Amino acid sequence: MPDATNTDVGVVELVDRMLAGAIARRASDVHFEPEDTIMRVRYRLDGLLHDVDVLPGTLSQGVIARLKVLAGLLTYRPDIPQEGSFTMNGRASVEGPPIDVRVATFPTVRGERAVLRLLYGAGPVSGLDALGLRPEMVASLRQAAEQPAGLILVTGPAGSGKSTTLYALARHIMTATPGRSVVSLEDPVEQRINGMAQIQVTPHGELNYPRAMRSLLRQDVQVLLVGEIRDAETAHIVVEAALTGHLIMSTLHSGDPAEALVRLLEMGIAPYQVVGAVSVVSSQRLLRTVCPACHNDRRDVDHGQMAPPARAVACETCAGTGYQGRTACGQIAVVDERLRQAVLRQAPAGELRRLIAGAGPDLIADARRVLAEEHTTREELLRVVGSVD
Ligand SMILES: [Zn+2]
Repeated sequence: MPDATNTDVGVVELVDRMLAGAIARRASDVHFEPEDTIMRVRYRLDGLLHDVDVLPGTLSQGVIARLKVLAGLLTYRPDIPQEGSFTMNGRASVEGPPIDVRVATFPTVRGERAVLRLLYGAGPVSGLDALGLRPEMVASLRQAAEQPAGLILVTGPAGSGKSTTLYALARHIMTATPGRSVVSLEDPVEQRINGMAQIQVTPHGELNYPRAMRSLLRQDVQVLLVGEIRDAETAHIVVEAALTGHLIMSTLHSGDPAEALVRLLEMGIAPYQVVGAVSVVSSQRLLRTVCPACHNDRRDVDHGQMAPPARAVACETCAGTGYQGRTACGQIAVVDERLRQAVLRQAPAGELRRLIAGAGPDLIADARRVLAEEHTTREELLRVVGSVD
């Protein structure tokens, strides 16, 4: 038997080191995944998982137990999924503002796995201009945000930067049209923003989206940020609120603006309510941007072609991934007269899509803009939007 005290100290330091490493590289998530004889540690960097370490399997239990203690979870229940959180307050020699860490554990046949989500709460909120979206799209979003009422929908898959866009919109509203009461309902609250009352909802608990919204609308709220429309009940309340003089911003998990409009109809919102409430639907994706430090080295190696990141180039800035940071691309549908008429007669998604594409670039065309500006690679376009041409 190894000395228990020493092992505990070792595990505490090990976990601290893993967390400090993740934070230093601005990882959004850390995975601790048990395998037969090892535990794999992976960081999510700019949206993609990267293996960073392999721990001996003998440490697995200790590492998970330490994470559970930090997050206030039951160490003696390895058989059920658990969720908790803790704050990195000067832990692991991390400097700067506190970072919220959400921990979710799950039993697998090889032992418990843990996934940590790191919320860098106090970072600066990006302005709408800094997201990478093309200027016409930003102008349409800005215009919708300055209206007294309406529904602004931001759509895209998980990890496409929707919340960042909502935060940028909220910031714009508070500076461009001050004096409005702005409240957000979120799960989780990803970033703290001055001037906005932020409420953490619990989708499966007492304060879920529908209940929180109903109460809030009686609280003299003019602008409401709703983290996500997950169900028909929330969709109905959101639309109702937009139709009764509130400005609502929310996200919907859907592919493109046409699909989002069809989803609202499928959730039982009447066509006249959809066109009455929705002002714009934007859809977005995040493309990883090439690392400025090793970008030119890669070009040289590949005779002027942008090289895929698989090539091993020693670079401290991007840890050899070839990418550093992300930029947004997207498509926007402004609900104009033609789109209105098409939704009112419940035109199929294909027809809505053609109408919307007639008014501006679609997702792939806009992703090509980022490629043409040499901010990303062909491989990244293929990965994110599925096409280069
Ligand atoms: Zn690099």
